Amino acid sequence: MTPLAVRTVGAQVATGTARRDSSPTSGPTGRARPTVAVIGAGASGTLTAMHLLGGDAVVWLIDPAADTGRGVAYSTSDPRHRLNVCAGQMSALPGDPDHFLRWAAGRNSEVRPADYLPRALYGEYLAATLTTSAAGRPAGALQRLHATAQAVNRVAGRFRVTLGNQRHLMVDAVVLAIGNAAPSVDWAPPALLASGRLIADPWLPAALTPLRDGAPVLLVGSGLTMVDIALSAAALSDTGALVAVSRSGLLPRIHEPSPASRPCPPVLPAGPLRLTQVVAALQAQAAELGSWPAAVDSLRPLTSQVWRRLSAGDQAEFLRCYARSWDVLRHRMAPEVGVEFQRLRAHGRLTLRKGSVEDAQAAPGRVVVRVAGLWHGFGHVVNCTGPRTDLATLGDPLLDQLFAAGLARADPLRLGLDTHPSGALRDGTGEPTAGLWAVGPARRGALWESTAVPEIRCQAATVAAELLADVRAH
Ligand SMILES: Cc1cc2nc3c(=O)[nH]c(=O)nc-3n(C[C@H](O)[C@H](O)[C@H](O)COP(=O)(O)OP(=O)(O)OC[C@H]3O[C@@H](n4cnc5c(N)ncnc54)[C@H](O)[C@@H]3O)c2cc1C
Repeated sequence: MTPLAVRTVGAQVATGTARRDSSPTSGPTGRARPTVAVIGAGASGTLTAMHLLGGDAVVWLIDPAADTGRGVAYSTSDPRHRLNVCAGQMSALPGDPDHFLRWAAGRNSEVRPADYLPRALYGEYLAATLTTSAAGRPAGALQRLHATAQAVNRVAGRFRVTLGNQRHLMVDAVVLAIGNAAPSVDWAPPALLASGRLIADPWLPAALTPLRDGAPVLLVGSGLTMVDIALSAAALSDTGALVAVSRSGLLPRIHEPSPASRPCPPVLPAGPLRLTQVVAALQAQAAELGSWPAAVDSLRPLTSQVWRRLSAGDQAEFLRCYARSWDVLRHRMAPEVGVEFQRLRAHGRLTLRKGSVEDAQAAPGRVVVRVAGLWHGFGHVVNCTGPRTDLATLGDPLLDQLFAAGLARADPLRLGLDTHPSGALRDGTGEPTAGLWAVGPARRGALWESTAVPEIRCQAATVAAELLADVRAH
């Protein structure tokens, strides 16, 4: 990053307290600019930082990652890893739907709204967009700290953010944009864990390099992560068999061409809803549209509202009975990815099994795994089970400290953090915690639909506006 107004600060030289008395912390009227720590510099943190800068705040964007705007989804350099949302719907700015398209067209004039572009390009776009936002602000209005936030404490109405090297910042408010947690390995038998052949987090840099040896690979999980990893594995070596296993045995659907106009959402009664009513409305919608994915998409503008109107019991029942089917309909493969993935299956390179990993035994040069009742030898096992959501059991120092201090709590369904509809974290008693906010996947418990850019960009704008109004009012 080489912008005029962005300072990149290494963890080892992280500044202490954000000052209130001079530029960039005081505005043209001499009034103090709000100072905000945004923890996490993936898509959620980057978009929130942009809106905060636009609202004349001083932003400390904290993430140990070298890059900004990439996070887990857009760090990949593999061009086979495509966005699963078409370019026309990936603008970073809710008020400017063609913003990403225009930026991408500046790189390649052939880009069309219906294209599914490489994810690496999108990371570049987010970083560039933040740089442009910061360039219009006073020098130092955006400080990028390459550090891990380990604690957030309230001190005299403000917040002290402790960084990994025990340095700290004092700020007026904090936004948690910590994204998706690494996948769990709870399912892995001890012999597999001890074998050194388990790739526990396939999204870590260079995690897939061992797959170059061409040995057979077991992919555990059958969602979009598995599809991406299968494509990468097939490109890294053209010999090893790929076996994917999951309890549901369900694969994500493939995106069909978008309709010219989005169908109206299904009609639902006002007030509290029963899950049975929502399922019936979706069934009717799917019959009318002739497509289940189209029916799920048509609900998208209302999904979070509908989720909030269900009782806790019905939300839990949805997770038990429908969540996996929902995921395969809602989180679909880009058409190019679908073609390549089907080719792997048609050529017998990849097989899909319904079942689970039941046992494992070490063996020379491989690990032998019992999958769905049968023993097979694999050179590598890749954990494609998707993000872990029970943040209370993650062992993350920052989250554990927030829970212990009573500043945050996990949501009752264990999908993330408990949040108020405004985006404020709920404290240990369930009250909104003044000055502490969340954007992104951590809000799934309250919103269900909270992981993709079309939702995150709106959350980022709303949280920035509410946070700044709140700081200025107090
Ligand atoms: C593989 C994959 C592909 C996806 N593809 C798409 C897509 O095509 N389109 C779409 O709309 N959505 C997609 N998504 C959904 C994705 O969740 C969002 O688009 C978005 O990337 C989420 O960004 P985030 O910033 O919330 O999380 P993340 O990208 O996970 O970033 C969180 C950041 O927080 C940092 N962090 C965490 N804890 C701390 C701490 N204590 N201190 C400092 N930093 C911390 C991490 O280092 C990380 O960089 C995809 C998701 C994945 C996993």
